[in-house]
Amino acid sequence: MGSVSLIDVHKRYGQGTAAAHAVRGVSADIANGEFIVIVGPSGCGKSTLLRMVAGLEEISEGEIRIDGQRVNDVEPSQRDIAMVFQNYALYPHMNVFDNMAYGLRIRGLARTDIEARVAQAARILGLEALLKRLPRQLSGGQRQRVAMGRAIVREPRVFLFDEPLSNLDAKLRVQTRLEIRRLHAQLGTTSLFVTHDQVEAMTLAQRMIVMNAGRIEQIGVPDEVYARPQTAFVAGFIGSPPMNLLPVQVDALGNVLARPGEGEAPGYQFTVRAPGPGQWLLGVRPERLHWAGQGWPVQIEFIELLGAERLVHARLGGLPIVVRCDASMAIPESSRMAFVTARAEDLHWFDADSGARAEPGPD
Ligand code: ADP
Repeated sequence: MGSVSLIDVHKRYGQGTAAAHAVRGVSADIANGEFIVIVGPSGCGKSTLLRMVAGLEEISEGEIRIDGQRVNDVEPSQRDIAMVFQNYALYPHMNVFDNMAYGLRIRGLARTDIEARVAQAARILGLEALLKRLPRQLSGGQRQRVAMGRAIVREPRVFLFDEPLSNLDAKLRVQTRLEIRRLHAQLGTTSLFVTHDQVEAMTLAQRMIVMNAGRIEQIGVPDEVYARPQTAFVAGFIGSPPMNLLPVQVDALGNVLARPGEGEAPGYQFTVRAPGPGQWLLGVRPERLHWAGQGWPVQIEFIELLGAERLVHARLGGLPIVVRCDASMAIPESSRMAFVTARAEDLHWFDADSGARAEPGPD
C-alpha cells in the first residue's frame, strides 16, 4: 500500500516577515499505485513539497499522511519511502552490488534476502553484467539505473523522484523515461516524480500536478490538462510551443477587440462567442489555427522549419501569434497578409485578472 494525502500543506523558510513562503496550501490525494508528476517552473516549490513527503524538510503547517497515517513527525527512515535524486549520490568506492545492498545491510536484512532483492532489481534494470563495477566505470545512464536499483531493493511504499533525469543527455533522457514507465508498470509502486520539464510530465504522468508560486494550478490526467487548462498559467506552461494567449476586450454586443501592446499597430476586431463583456485572455493552441480564405488577418513575420512541421510566427493586430502546421502544407508567402481561423471549441477564455478559465455563453 502507499496512498499519500497532502492536506493544506505549507512551507515557510525563515521567520517572521523575512520568511519565504515556498509552499502555500497544497492539498492532493494520491491513490496507491499512482504515478504522479509534479511539474512547474523553477522555484515554484516542487522539490520542497517532495522533501516534505520524504521527511527531509519540516512541515510548517498542514498535514501529510501516508496510508492514512500522519507522518509530520515521523523520521524519514521510518516513512518507508525511497528517493531518487538528480545527482545519483552513489558511494564511489563501492561496486554496483554493494551500492544497492548497503541500505539493506544497515537495516539488518539476512544475506540471502539481500542477494535475492539485488538480483531481482538488477534483472529488472538490466544491470546484471555490471554488478562488480565501480560507479566511475559506468555511464551516466547506468549510474542513474543503479540509483533506481537502490530505491527498488528497499521495496518502499512510495518512490520519490527529484528531477532524476536532468543530468542525462536528451536521448538517454527519453530512453530512461521509458524505463521508468516500464518499471512502474511492473512494480506498481506509488510514485511522485518532480520535473520542470512539461514534456517529461506529459509523457510520464498518469496524473499531473501543475504548480506555480507555491500553489497548485491544476491536477489532472495529461490529456485533460492539455485540452482544458484551468488557468492561463497552465495554458501557457503545458504545450510546446505554448498556447497563444491574446489580451482581448469584449463589448456588450460580443464583439472582440484584440488589444495590441503599447506602441503597436491598432487592434483587430472580430466576432466570436465570448463568456461576456470585459477583458479576457483568448487562448488558442498553435496547432488549432488553420489557414483560410478569410478570418483573422495576420501578418506573417518568419517561418521556422522543424522537419515534419513548421512554426509560422505572425502578428494579429499587433499581437504575436504562432501557427503550427504540417511541413507539406502550402503557406502564404512571408511578409504577406493571410487569414487564420479556429473552431469555437478550440478557443479558451481566461479572466484577464485572475487567469481563471471561463466558458463562453450559449449562442
Ligand atoms: P523548485 O523545486 O520548484 O525549483 P524549490 O522547492 O526548490 O523550488 O524552492 C521553492 C522556493 O523556496 C524558492 O523560492 C526557493 O528559493 C525557496 N527555498 C528553497 N529551499 C530553501 C531554503 N533552504 N531556505 C530558504 N529558501 C528556500
